[in-house]
Amino acid sequence: MPRPGELTLVPARRGKPPRHLADLDVDARRQAVAELGEQPFRADQLSRHYFARHVNDPAQMTDVPAAVRDTLAATMLPTLTTAVKHLETDGGTTRKTLWRLFDGALVESVLMRYTGDRPRVTLCVSSQAGCGMNCPFCATGQQGLTRNMSAAEIIEQVVAAERMLAGGEIAGGTGRVTNVVFMGMGEPLANYKAVVTAVRRMTDPAPSGLGIGRRGVTVSTVGLVPAIDKLAAENLGVRLALSLHAPDDELRDELVPVNTRWKVGEALDAARAYFEKTGRRVSIEYALIREINDHAWRGDLLGKLLNERGRGWVHVNPIPLNPTPGSKWTASRPEDEAAFVAALEERGVPVTIRDTRGSDIDGACGQLATVGD
Ligand code: SAH
Repeated sequence: MPRPGELTLVPARRGKPPRHLADLDVDARRQAVAELGEQPFRADQLSRHYFARHVNDPAQMTDVPAAVRDTLAATMLPTLTTAVKHLETDGGTTRKTLWRLFDGALVESVLMRYTGDRPRVTLCVSSQAGCGMNCPFCATGQQGLTRNMSAAEIIEQVVAAERMLAGGEIAGGTGRVTNVVFMGMGEPLANYKAVVTAVRRMTDPAPSGLGIGRRGVTVSTVGLVPAIDKLAAENLGVRLALSLHAPDDELRDELVPVNTRWKVGEALDAARAYFEKTGRRVSIEYALIREINDHAWRGDLLGKLLNERGRGWVHVNPIPLNPTPGSKWTASRPEDEAAFVAALEERGVPVTIRDTRGSDIDGACGQLATVGD
């Protein structure tokens, strides 16, 4: 367990999961297949099975000669994740899955189907086993960092969700993943390379990737400023969420320890630059913690800091704190939440309260933890 405020940027464990089709771009896939002594077009067939049909069972690859199916599947599509358990709530429209990785590391993903006027299916994925950012209100932050996940381990969570949806396992009929948020375990920008590769695999059109709309993908970060700048330059077209949680450095140093490296002002400047470069409106995440960060003056200060950087580039997503085991903190009172929101709105900043979906199965924001599971 990390000491309070201690950051872990480099994971202790360096074990690498087996290489997988989803780690490779189209050319590298062809080359890998050629190295096995097969025709390069077999790689395209495998891509079609995996990315377009979500199949990795060699028996279903009837266009590949039976004699080579097993070898190709075993080398290019090794099993990376095994479901340990599923927990469901909201009448079966929310499902949290605990995954065991090849080395025993555990991670979770949460699938959420929304109906109504904006129907969508959002998958919240993990990008690291554990997290090194040590935010004291976040359950994952308290368990420390085990290791980075590979791009394919991240993608496997999405492919598994597609299979659940196609198989009618999620209430509401068959469906597809429309949104992916990197809001599960881990700090995505601390595992930069794998996350960017995974984003490309998600958003590349089928069959080279999963064909999920770029705007449907959100990368959420504590504010690793150099990595935000780098991400802006990748031209991925994805959304950025910045987990701010306090507008003043004194409090943010405590709530988001990485603030001791990159201050509120620097994180907001990077977020603004991300908007300028990509045209994507940035979200500011703000967990409302009772009598800690939920004062109206902090809402007002946040609105002021955002407006100093322009209008129309940002919206704020407050979320009532989801309680985590052993934490002394709890969610804000409704009247304090309302006053915080009003202070932002008075400054003309768009605000949407985020829901705490999945909190009854410890599947809501900040509740993912696999210690003692
Ligand atoms: N490391 C990334 C992504 C993971 S968490 C990040 O920090 O952005 C996704 C969001 O949930 C973040 O905004 C995070 O600050 C927030 N969160 C963490 N713990 C929470 C809690 N107990 N209640 C509500 N939100 C929480």
